[in-house]
Amino acid sequence: MVHCPHCETELTEADDVEFLDMDSTTGFFTASKRFYLVGCGDCGAAIGSGVAGAM
Ligand SMILES: [Zn+2]
Repeated sequence: MVHCPHCETELTEADDVEFLDMDSTTGFFTASKRFYLVGCGDCGAAIGSGVAGAM
């Protein structure tokens, strides 16, 4: 999957990462989409992000 740039933990399973739902933090994103920040489950560093449709 990915390597954490901070602690170099290899994140190979979904349990290794945190998906933070950013939907309620701002009104920037439309209601039909949700913005996810992917963070390292070990040290909490932000690794990546994505937008998932609400379909
Ligand atoms: Zn880490």
